Amino acid sequence: MQVLLSEADIQTRVRDLANEIARDHPDGVHLVAVLKGAFVFLSDLARAMPGHCSVDFMAVSSYGKGTSSSGQVQVLKDLSSDVEGRDIVIVEDIVDTGLTLTYLQQILRARSPRHLRTACLLSKPSRRKVDVPVEYIGFTIEDKFVVGYGLDYAEKYRNLPYIAVIGD
Ligand code: 5GP
Repeated sequence: MQVLLSEADIQTRVRDLANEIARDHPDGVHLVAVLKGAFVFLSDLARAMPGHCSVDFMAVSSYGKGTSSSGQVQVLKDLSSDVEGRDIVIVEDIVDTGLTLTYLQQILRARSPRHLRTACLLSKPSRRKVDVPVEYIGFTIEDKFVVGYGLDYAEKYRNLPYIAVIGD
């Protein structure tokens, strides 16, 4: 495995993102993290957030297993609170084809938040199949399968404090 983004690189960038998000949401923000991959990003982001924030979780799964998204998304766990009229930021680990996020944004937009924005730690623009708005992007990366910092391969490597490339 080859380290792509070190722990220090990630921590610096996450602090910047937290400041940016807080600046754009002076009344506070409700962070909606997408399980399981975003749990590490969420915890660092929330702790670096200067203003008020609350958190909730959704779990979704693509039907296909393996390293590529099938685009068919199933909600496994829904939010525990209402988002109507609130300032929401979806917190996601990575945007690849964009299909998962497009689906999530549709679901949440239908619940009438005041603002709906999205933060992704990683983006692979070369893989995009749909044009999905992502206001906060940590790092843009090449088309490589990555693990660590919440991201898994067959449920392994989520606990690595850095991002690494496997399969090279
Ligand atoms: P999308 O719907 O944008 O194609 O895929 C988003 C989901 O695919 C992510 O939330 C993540 O679970 C998974 N995914 C996409 N690329 C990678 C990757 O490089 N590594 C890992 N571990 N998961 C990925």
